[in-house]
Amino acid sequence: MRKYKPFQLNDIIKTIFCFFVLLSFSSHAESLPKIVVLATGGTIAGTGTSEMQTTGYKPGVLTADMLLKSVPSLSSVAQVSAEQISNVGSDNINNEILLKLAKRVNVLLAQPDINGIVITHGTDTLEETAYFLNLVVKSKKPVVLTASMRPSTAISADGRGNLLQAVIVAASHEASGRGVMIVMNDRISSARYVTKTNANTLDTFKDYEHGYLGHVVDQVPHFEMRAGKLNTTDTPFDITNLKMLPDVVINYGYQNEVPYMYDAAIEHGVKGIVVAGTGGGSESLAIIPSLKKAIEKGIVVVRSSRTGSGYVAGDPAYVGLLSNDLNPQKSRILLMLALTVTNDPPQIQEMFNKY
Ligand code: ASP
Repeated sequence: MRKYKPFQLNDIIKTIFCFFVLLSFSSHAESLPKIVVLATGGTIAGTGTSEMQTTGYKPGVLTADMLLKSVPSLSSVAQVSAEQISNVGSDNINNEILLKLAKRVNVLLAQPDINGIVITHGTDTLEETAYFLNLVVKSKKPVVLTASMRPSTAISADGRGNLLQAVIVAASHEASGRGVMIVMNDRISSARYVTKTNANTLDTFKDYEHGYLGHVVDQVPHFEMRAGKLNTTDTPFDITNLKMLPDVVINYGYQNEVPYMYDAAIEHGVKGIVVAGTGGGSESLAIIPSLKKAIEKGIVVVRSSRTGSGYVAGDPAYVGLLSNDLNPQKSRILLMLALTVTNDPPQIQEMFNKY
């Protein structure tokens, strides 16, 4: 028969020690910043059929919760929860999803216990969503977008590392008040300036002209710069009660350009047209009459540049407001929001100068 072994002093000390270790772990976890991950889809949530597949895979397969579970280290940097906003490739992000996402970000950030937001997204239109949020988020708390160029199943999948870095940045005090950011590949970029530059490579998001806000090295964020243009709480855009955004299209400039793309837009009843002009925003003589017709009808025309960087030249031979250095896709975002406030061209030009 086994003899009953009375509890030794040693055992009691061990039990008390374990209790305090567990207590300190749980209070450490509770003291970590609270970050909400809003998932919208994209390659970061995509899967292929083998580790070799890096194109033609399915975007938007993994759910928000699956993304969180795939990065266990997240629990050591923040208290992270996840919500699904959509699960689509970013080519299918539309104004409805943009408004839903932005409204949710504002509601969450208004809660005192939430420290920051991370959004997972496809890379293709990431900069449009990021810039939209940069203009409509009404908080100085960090909002960070991240993505991946490889599906989760690929041998060089970059999503898990990018998600971890995004949460680290969103959880950092220093990230507050820097506008909406994109974190990928160890770089912290400003939504206002960064753009996707390569259709395939992991290192696709670049800000050639202005540089980066900072870097993440060995999972520590290092901030160096601040974006010069006004953002978030310093803009007049309030989407709280907006149900839709005005129809704004982009027309691309090229040799032998045809005016009927503009005429079709006018006939369709658009509220704004962005011209992705050649060079410094030049417009072919062939489209100028259509542009003048658009302006007579009260449609706001903005000239941008298809080159992807540099400033649009103020030339009286051309028609429309100046986007300055804002690329066509971000000019469309700003023009939509500007048109929710006014359709007075000088006031809209002022917004293009400020934001
Ligand atoms: N087509 C994908 C998307 O934008 C590409 C990506 O996420 O990298 O959703």
